[in-house]
Formats: sequence, C-alpha cells, structure tokens
Amino acid sequence: MNAMVLNKIGVPLEWTELANRQPEAGEIRVKVAACGVCRTDLHVVDGELPDPKVPIIPGHEIVGRIDALGAGVEGLSIGERVGIPWLGHTCGVCPYCAGGHENLCDHPIFTGFTRDGGFATATIADARFAFPLGETGSDVALAPLLCAGLIGWRSLVIAGAAKKLGLYGFGAAAHIIAQVAKWQGRSVFAFTRPGDTSTQAFARSLGATWAGGSDEMPPEPLDAAIIFATVGALVPLALKAVRKGGRVVCAGIHVSDIPSFPYRLLWEERQLVSVANLTREDGLDFLRLAPEIGIVTQTTSYPLNQANQALADLRAGRFEGAAVLVP
Ligand SMILES: [Zn+2]
Ligand SMILES: [Zn+2]
Repeated sequence: MNAMVLNKIGVPLEWTELANRQPEAGEIRVKVAACGVCRTDLHVVDGELPDPKVPIIPGHEIVGRIDALGAGVEGLSIGERVGIPWLGHTCGVCPYCAGGHENLCDHPIFTGFTRDGGFATATIADARFAFPLGETGSDVALAPLLCAGLIGWRSLVIAGAAKKLGLYGFGAAAHIIAQVAKWQGRSVFAFTRPGDTSTQAFARSLGATWAGGSDEMPPEPLDAAIIFATVGALVPLALKAVRKGGRVVCAGIHVSDIPSFPYRLLWEERQLVSVANLTREDGLDFLRLAPEIGIVTQTTSYPLNQANQALADLRAGRFEGAAVLVP
C-alpha cells in the first residue's frame, strides 16, 4: 500500500510505500476509494492537538470497500462499501461510554490522529466503528459526510429547535448543514470572512436566507448559532447575534483564544456550549437521513499524492465546500 505520511509535526506529508497489513481480530481492511480533507487534518499536521501518534497517516473521512475481515467481525462483508470516521475506537467501560456519551470516552482512538487514517490506498479500522454506506452516491460525494457532515449534524442537534440558525464559517461542514437545516424548515443565516462575497453567494445558492460578513449583525436576532470557524473572536459576536435564551454551539476541535467580553452578552439565559467528536448513533442517524435529504456536496478532488496541495488550499480557502483525495 501507499500513503501520505506525516513523519514529523510541521513538515509536509511524504509519499511512502508500506507493507499491506492483515486485519487483526475485530478489524477490517479497507481499500480506500476517497478520503475527505478536514480542518482537523491541518490541526494534526500543525501539531495543535495534544499527543498525536507520529508518524501518522492523517485522514478521517474515509470511503472504501472492505477487502479483508479480521477474526470475529460480524455484520460486514468483503466488497461492502463503508465509511470510517474520526471516532476510531472507544474503551466501552469508562463512565462516559457506559453513560451513552462515547464521544467523550476517556481512552478513545481517533482515525488519522492516534491510529492511521485514510490518506492512503488502504487502511485498517475497528469494524464496530465503520458505517455501512450502501450504494447510493459516489465515493467522492460521500466522503465529506464522514466528518464535516457528522460533526455538523451533532452540532445542529445540540443547537436545538432553532428556527433562525446562524452558521459562522461557511466551509465543508456548514455547506452540508445548511442543506439539512433548510430541509428541516429552518432559516439559515451564513457568516463568512468579511468581504468574502463568493462564499456568501455560495451560501445563498444553498438556500441561506441571508449571508454576510462575520463582523455584521444578522437582520433579525437568531435562535441559535453554530461556530464552525476556528476563530475564538467569533464567540462574543455570535452571542451578540442570538436572542434571549439563545444558544451558541462551538463545533471546532481547536479554536484560537476567545477575547474577554462583557457579561451582558451571556446574560438573559444565553448558552455557550461546545461539541466534541461524535457517537456512532450520531453517524447512523445522519447517514440514514442524508439520502432522504438529498444532500449535494461540493467537492474538489485531488490525487492522493497531492495531499499537501489540498491541505494548503484548505488553509488558504481556495475552494468552496470540501477537498477529497482520490488514490
Ligand atoms: Zn470510554
Ligand atoms: Zn474532521
């Protein structure tokens, strides 16, 4: 197999030939057909997340077909198309796992961070954390659903029954969740980098009621807002944009510091919460619903060996929607 390997924090990924390993008990081997590029991959290569496994193969929006089954794997078959997300394994026994909050597991393993991921021609995964994807939709179109879609979905659920929903940062996650929110009958207010009129037009094309810069106030108070951008300064702006009792959900895994802000922005029962990782239930709920909603992902494909270019283009905001690597 071949992979784009991060050998050291802060250096480009390197095209590497590796031995094809056999799956152990409970594992599957997947021939990768597409792997999305997520902002978290940038945090991994930049060393912004604690305790990575290095060298590591990044990538946690994997779509592929099973080509080998480890002992004891049930309910999955050779040739079946599966998706492999960020949550790669949980301990199953800590208080969080036992209490139905496996996203907060004390001893998790994350795909493309603490176990090798999908910037490769093949990968090994814990079978219990792979999602059967069926045959509807192309591999490339489905890849962004595996993290941008899933984390976006969990954020949307936690935002509650908000009719007027703000989305700060209109990248891969927001472009999916805007479609879900519209399908649910909500109004979407999209906030982009100030002056980014092309992304604002993109948001409107996906049904946003209003689109503007993150330095602007929406035309009416929001019921809730989700912050997908990794900019802490958006937190007070979003709190200002929500009504009394409104909720602000931070979806980022790594965000710059939040500047101090007057207490009155939180006063009147406004809520500020974060979303971490996903549970398998989130994945099953969302992937069941996605074909019904008819989500159309906007993707830019790169050959696998161009992963460094894809990461650079993501960092610079050179495309709308999501980048996807194809072996
Ligand atoms: Zn656990
Ligand atoms: Zn991700």
